[in-house]
Amino acid sequence: RQHLAVAVEDVGGTQAQHDAVAELIRAFTVSADKLRAIQTHFISEMEKGLKHHGQTVAMIPSFVEGRLTGQEKGTFLALDLGGTNLRVVQVELLGAGEFTTKSTKYKVSEELKTTDAKNLFRISGTLVCYGWRINLLNRLIPIVLVRSIDFIADSIDSFLAEHGLDAAEEAIPLGFTFSFPVYQSKINRGTLKSWTKGFSCPGLVGKDPVVMLQDALAKKHVPVFVTALVNDTVGTLLSHAYRNPDTMAGIILGTGTNGAYIENMKNIEKWDGGSTSSNEMIINMEFGAFDNERRALPLTMFDNKLDRESINPHEQIFEKMIAGMYLGEIVRNTLLHLIDRELLFSGNSSKELNEMWSLETTYMSAIEADADPQLESTKNILEQTLSIPSTTLTDRRIVKKVCELVGTRAARLASAAIGGIIAHRDALEAGCACGIDGSLYEFYPNFETRMYAALKELFGEGVEKKIRLGLAKDGSGVGGVAAKMFKSLPVPV
Ligand code: BGC
Ligand code: MG
Repeated sequence: RQHLAVAVEDVGGTQAQHDAVAELIRAFTVSADKLRAIQTHFISEMEKGLKHHGQTVAMIPSFVEGRLTGQEKGTFLALDLGGTNLRVVQVELLGAGEFTTKSTKYKVSEELKTTDAKNLFRISGTLVCYGWRINLLNRLIPIVLVRSIDFIADSIDSFLAEHGLDAAEEAIPLGFTFSFPVYQSKINRGTLKSWTKGFSCPGLVGKDPVVMLQDALAKKHVPVFVTALVNDTVGTLLSHAYRNPDTMAGIILGTGTNGAYIENMKNIEKWDGGSTSSNEMIINMEFGAFDNERRALPLTMFDNKLDRESINPHEQIFEKMIAGMYLGEIVRNTLLHLIDRELLFSGNSSKELNEMWSLETTYMSAIEADADPQLESTKNILEQTLSIPSTTLTDRRIVKKVCELVGTRAARLASAAIGGIIAHRDALEAGCACGIDGSLYEFYPNFETRMYAALKELFGEGVEKKIRLGLAKDGSGVGGVAAKMFKSLPVPV
């Protein structure tokens, strides 16, 4: 089966290399039986999370009730924070399932991801060294410039000015798409459960990100109020549902991974959020934490090493096997293991490859897409970008194989989660759409094909007609839709 693994013979090389590759194939392949076992465990964890608070799969009620019809109209503002960039997005819903978005991206630096939360949201000073001078003792001392960044509030402010929105008479409602686990207590209130994906700004865990943002805006006199806090999966579901009213789930396969789906209120046994006007609510599952207990997932030594060295060990175990932030690092760990046994690159690594996170998931995409018989792009990445002194064709084939194994496993595990949602909702026969956003799904070669292959193993032939996976256009940005739905809320203080 092509999607399980390419035959071990095609790497060529020595018997020892051949055996090592065979061993990796065994370690990384998720069989159809295993996939079903993972799906079963996933469903039972979902059900636990719906019954009780504080479960591994948190199953957080989003306070987004009801469904979109695609007829809603208007212009809304959203702020999207959660991965590589911060974006301010203006969404215009045109009716008839059509919408347009205008957005501006601001890069979130590594420094900002781990700074004090106050810096991320408001008063801050960052030290920018802009020169050196020699002091009386003949020592070099840096000349520093203290610059206030007020990162998020400033970004919104400049977006408003650029788009001529700054003269509004009333405060502009804003949907805040915040792609981290937040226990919500209202549509625009909640507390951050933990950081994920390399963010770690201390001081915000247990606090309300909306209050932080609203404070920062008030200090700068930015005329905006936050009417909704939505997870990116919820935004993805909403954006896809606007065009495809039979959308059941929103999935992110990007820097991180997670899903949201529409649940019956009566199944949310733990619900204590007061009366609702609809009998359905979107649940932010936070499935990245699925199986943190390691009962069902086929973890390898390469996954264990990644987890141990990460800033959040024992957390987000499922996410660490699937998401774009981590796949390259799993490949890197695997290559180092082969190098140490002198089965790859004649036993030579490089300063670059020895560095954590140096092998980016985008390199895997390029390597998997490399159709050249000599694997020229792969050679370039290894020898130029990663400074490996020299590589043979066998080396490059082995590297390609490792990428394929890690990429395929990620796609199959993502399908076990989607399969879990569909089975739990018993939505197969009626059919449904699933909106997906994120760079892995959008750009990684064969990701969707591999997902469908796994879904077929779970649900049988013809599954692609019943479960329609589709790219959710600007999923993370469409939190503005939720802002519109909750426009009648009072202005927060
Ligand atoms: C976060 C989720 C988010 C997902 C995708 C995960 O790390 O916990 O809240 O939806 O990444 O961005
Ligand atoms: Mg995003």
